[in-house]
Amino acid sequence: MNLETPSVETCPRCLKAAPLCVCAKIEPIANRVFVLVLQHPQEQDRDLGTARLAFLHFSQAAFKVGLSWPNLSKAVGRPVADPKRWGVLYLGPAILPPEAQGRDIVVLDRKGALDPAQDKALDELDGVVVLDGTWSQAKALWWRNAWLLKLRRVVLDPKAPSRYGKLRKEPRRESVSTLEATAILMSRLEARPDLQPRMLACFDALLQRYRDSRKKPPPA
Ligand SMILES: [Zn+2]
Repeated sequence: MNLETPSVETCPRCLKAAPLCVCAKIEPIANRVFVLVLQHPQEQDRDLGTARLAFLHFSQAAFKVGLSWPNLSKAVGRPVADPKRWGVLYLGPAILPPEAQGRDIVVLDRKGALDPAQDKALDELDGVVVLDGTWSQAKALWWRNAWLLKLRRVVLDPKAPSRYGKLRKEPRRESVSTLEATAILMSRLEARPDLQPRMLACFDALLQRYRDSRKKPPPA
């Protein structure tokens, strides 16, 4: 099946071709910590991209496509009282200080130093910004939005490799998909261990549908 064929319907919610839509499997999450997903306009992995799918899980969330916003409030779409109580999930290679070894979520201050009170820093977050795109696209978003530097920097060091497996070449082990990263982070921030498996089940369903869609049709 060719998913680019115009005859294949697109889901208006997740914007994926109908055979790849897993919207029905999403169980909405009433979250406290706001999720803001910023997607680079050239991120075009329509089939396997997961940012919109991650966003669709949360009641308190916004999804924006663009290159730059003047400040956090403009990006969120409403006034943000205290940007210092927000974090930005830094997706990409990071050199973690030795004291951070063994942790899968690390909070760094704006200078890149380890916050001494890790759990408190995470508990105090009102919202998180997630940058979606390739490594270089995420880096472009980072540099074009200087206000991101004022937020706490949250770095993941996932213990398991991405479930993309061989479907997508990730440059480094810690480069998991946007959905996997959001699932790890939000499970912790909401203190809801059930969130991660719930979100990953959706991701697994997407990958299964993708594999199925690429199987050759049986001979006539
Ligand atoms: Zn859908």
